[in-house]
Amino acid sequence: MFDKILIANRGEIACRVIRTARKLGIRTVAVYSDADADALHVSMADEAVHIGAAPSRESYLQFDRVIEACKRTGAQAVHPGYGFLSENSQFCQACDAAGVVFIGPPVGAIEAMGSKSAAKRIMEEAGVPLVPGYHGEDQSPELLKKAADDMGYPVLLKATAGGGGKGMRQVWSAKDFDEALAAARREASNSFGDDRMLVEKYLTRPRHVEIQVFCDSRGNAVYLAERDCSVQRRHQKVIEEAPAPGMSEALRQQMGEAAVQAAKAIDYVGAGTVEFLLDEDGSFYFMEMNTRLQVEHPVTEMITGQDLVEWQLRVAAGEALPLAQEDVQINGHAFEARIYAEDPDNDFLPVTGTLAFLQPPEESAHVRVDTGVLQGDEVSVYYDPMIAKLIVHDEDRDKALRRLARALSEYRISGMRTNVDFLYNLATAEPFRKADLDTGFIEKHRELIFHDSEQDLQRGAILGALYLVLRQARRATVAETDPYSPWNSTSAWRLNEPHAQHFALELGGREIAVSVEQLQRGGSRRYRICSGNQTVTARGELKDGELYADIDGYRSRVPVAEHDGVISLYTEDSALQIREVQPDLGEADDTGGEGALTAPMNGTIVTLLAQAGVAVARGDALLVMEAMKMEHTIRAPADGTVEEFFYAPGDLVEGGAELVNFSPAEA
Ligand code: ADP
Repeated sequence: MFDKILIANRGEIACRVIRTARKLGIRTVAVYSDADADALHVSMADEAVHIGAAPSRESYLQFDRVIEACKRTGAQAVHPGYGFLSENSQFCQACDAAGVVFIGPPVGAIEAMGSKSAAKRIMEEAGVPLVPGYHGEDQSPELLKKAADDMGYPVLLKATAGGGGKGMRQVWSAKDFDEALAAARREASNSFGDDRMLVEKYLTRPRHVEIQVFCDSRGNAVYLAERDCSVQRRHQKVIEEAPAPGMSEALRQQMGEAAVQAAKAIDYVGAGTVEFLLDEDGSFYFMEMNTRLQVEHPVTEMITGQDLVEWQLRVAAGEALPLAQEDVQINGHAFEARIYAEDPDNDFLPVTGTLAFLQPPEESAHVRVDTGVLQGDEVSVYYDPMIAKLIVHDEDRDKALRRLARALSEYRISGMRTNVDFLYNLATAEPFRKADLDTGFIEKHRELIFHDSEQDLQRGAILGALYLVLRQARRATVAETDPYSPWNSTSAWRLNEPHAQHFALELGGREIAVSVEQLQRGGSRRYRICSGNQTVTARGELKDGELYADIDGYRSRVPVAEHDGVISLYTEDSALQIREVQPDLGEADDTGGEGALTAPMNGTIVTLLAQAGVAVARGDALLVMEAMKMEHTIRAPADGTVEEFFYAPGDLVEGGAELVNFSPAEA
């Protein structure tokens, strides 16, 4: 076994690898960029080496510096984590040349799977079933379009070098093909420097089921059951679970064996994942093989009781696999939810900010939190906006799901929008409980999952208003004890008459009006609070960062955090982010929402697709911008004309910046 390894990654996965290394008595070396000087992974490692500036291109992707760091510290092996250099065959080669062990598969296996098209050709030869499609070398737009036309729509365009859903576009009809191809190619060339595409039949109701495989260098290979990752947004996983609900032992074996066959076809060594689409009729199709540890590997660890990073280290050190196929056991059920800094109401666009308040649920035998950040850390534009992975395990799916919901309701973050509420709504949605899964789950159950109904918003506003008046009252009490305070001369007017106060609160992207009347009875203050058609009688107290609320006799204790004017109230089933809107500040700030002609986030203008002065129809693409390696198309909110574009291709724009001067046509 190694004495010292270097982890060529950051965030939760770097911390995850360090934990296992420590358990095995292996010393660890972290690498870090300027932005990560104080990051958790750096403080957890025994040693750390600075490797460059914040952008990953200038640090985590600089593999010469990573190898240099191995030499400097005497690290015998490198764990690449996922992302960054994990599937970079040049890096793998450079490690070999430098005599450093790459903790992953051999160069040939990475190369074989590096291109989705080449991988498909290999799998075809090995007899693994494929999604029907075109994965040839000829890339002329006419040929690609013809392939799509012949196959019939819908089709899916995929970058052959792809990953992370980038360079991927659904096309629903022939007329949209050209625009989609151009966009997918631009995105692919920005992300991977390679704009080659493949075209696949788009399956409308598949499940994403993937098999964890493991091979050692002695010719042994096993599969460690499957994971169901059907719940996705933007074609990216948000909740994963193992085992896949409804999986028969026969199908598991069939898929497992196909996956092992796929791994053997490329002389695989180490941890790998073979991804399949599982159709309603039980047919499954090879999608791709990821030649690394997956983000969602913990669910497999929970049900098999194995430490997959330990397996990786053992295999890389030349040891045999710890288990034979017949010894692999499945116990209970596990879920993983990915906690992201992102805005579910704005197409899940990543957001950035400071984690002003961060309180994960308590870890136990059933609850595990894999994270790489601490309160006060920054979620920056430079890296993936994942804050943590929440993993739960119990003896069956229902119990595990209850744990998931509970743990999500205890996950408290403020300082930026996150998807925690969205995940909670998902985890408690009835169709999810019934495991009625397919990759369109979120779209299909939109109404259920995004259920900020008017009533919910009003209830939230009432709680927010109660907090505001209690805070006010407390400040006033503090002031009243000061005999010289000017407040004392004016405070008496409240004493006898009910006094109504009006608040405008912003929550759930809406502005909600609330009025609060103080009912003076005895010593304790009671309030009548109205919002929309709801009227309640409430009282409460602020103590130790918590709001003790009694609303119409229903008592609850609500942790509160305040940051930059945003009040976060963590109720039993959601995290309310409330801002008090100051009255009479002139026109409302018109950002976000449908038809907003503002930049959704910091980014770069890629191309202008309309001409100033020429009429466009509602929904026409006006311009494309790129942010965090994803393209966003800004569309005409109505029929009309672009008077002026404020930016040119290549310009950097800030989130919220107005991009276009647009005049709607006269009705
Ligand atoms: P990436 O490597 O960019 O993440 P994948 O090829 O793994 O892309 O696909 C990501 C997701 O896109 C899949 O999990 C699935 O939900 C969806 N998907 C991929 N191919 C198809 C297809 N042919 N039909 C329907 N959905 C697909």
